[in-house]
Amino acid sequence: MKILKKKIYNFQNNIIDVDFIIMSLLSRFADLICHLKICQNLHFDTSKPFSRQTENTTKKTIGKQCTNLLLQPATEVKSWLNSFNTIIADGEGVLWIYDKPIPGAIDALNQLKASGKQIYVCTNNSTQTRQQHTFKAERLGLNIRENELLCTAHATAQYLKDMQFLKYAYVIGAEALTTELDAAGIVLHNDSGPDIMHEAVEKFATEFRKEANVGAVIVGYDTHFSFCKLAKAVTYLKNPDCLFLATNVDASSSTGDMVLPGTGSFVAAIEYSTGRKAYVIGKPSANMCMQYIENGLIQPENTLMIGDNYQTDMPFGRNLGFQTLLVGTGTHTWSDVLHLKKLNGNLVKHFMPDAYIPKLADLKYFLRR
Ligand SMILES: [Mg+2]
Repeated sequence: MKILKKKIYNFQNNIIDVDFIIMSLLSRFADLICHLKICQNLHFDTSKPFSRQTENTTKKTIGKQCTNLLLQPATEVKSWLNSFNTIIADGEGVLWIYDKPIPGAIDALNQLKASGKQIYVCTNNSTQTRQQHTFKAERLGLNIRENELLCTAHATAQYLKDMQFLKYAYVIGAEALTTELDAAGIVLHNDSGPDIMHEAVEKFATEFRKEANVGAVIVGYDTHFSFCKLAKAVTYLKNPDCLFLATNVDASSSTGDMVLPGTGSFVAAIEYSTGRKAYVIGKPSANMCMQYIENGLIQPENTLMIGDNYQTDMPFGRNLGFQTLLVGTGTHTWSDVLHLKKLNGNLVKHFMPDAYIPKLADLKYFLRR
């Protein structure tokens, strides 16, 4: 992919807008005070908020910058937002958490769209088809069309369709994944659902009969992931010509006090057993956006990626030449950014967002001005 020149925003004015301070104190008093304290302690640099480190920057400072938008003059943030013609937002943790909308987030994205920007939602969630994702977004109030919804189940099926895949696919994943495969004309595959061992492992192994002509193992989020599925995937992948695809490699998610393993944990188990690496369709891989870029629908230099996960959303945006904004309503928060700032190395460079805001709804203030 050609190297894309990124916009550099260099804000000289370091004076904080009085109206903005009043608004912030009223709406997020505790949050702002906390951030100010943290920044003061770590000598947070707000003088060059939106400039990205260059390749020539010394290793010690690579990726050290991330601008907290709540600490910038409102007019400057507004100008920064106006410079984008396309906004790509993650769904889970940015717009909603499961079926509950995050207060004000969808309204903020609708306002961005109403201001003339192209809007896309890009999600790694493979448990719903593109149509199901779109219906959900619409039901929660988002003004969006199906072709503005980028998701991994659909993208994985399209990837195989584009390569004219005609063999059998062994699928670990939810029903949405097999539904999208069927819609793409890839009809030779197993069904989703439980696959549990009912006998001794020796009996299971000796009685197992391979499907004929298996050309791909596809791994998505599967709450029925099991020893049987793992064994079958590993067995099929002994054939080096069998494709190994992962919808995404998210490590985990949280619900209340419980940590739920993500698709990446299933993928890692198979990778460990086979010694092979999966080809990843979802973020941070560029797959879901490449066709839009090649068709000219998305211009990377004018695009902002908004996400809640610095391990997937931020490198996804960075890989594609977008600017990136982390929101603190999902997986990672400002404290994680501060942790990144203490680290060195290339990983930090890929994970560090260009900007941070506690929640997407906070953007509405800047849109009004
Ligand atoms: Mg997310």
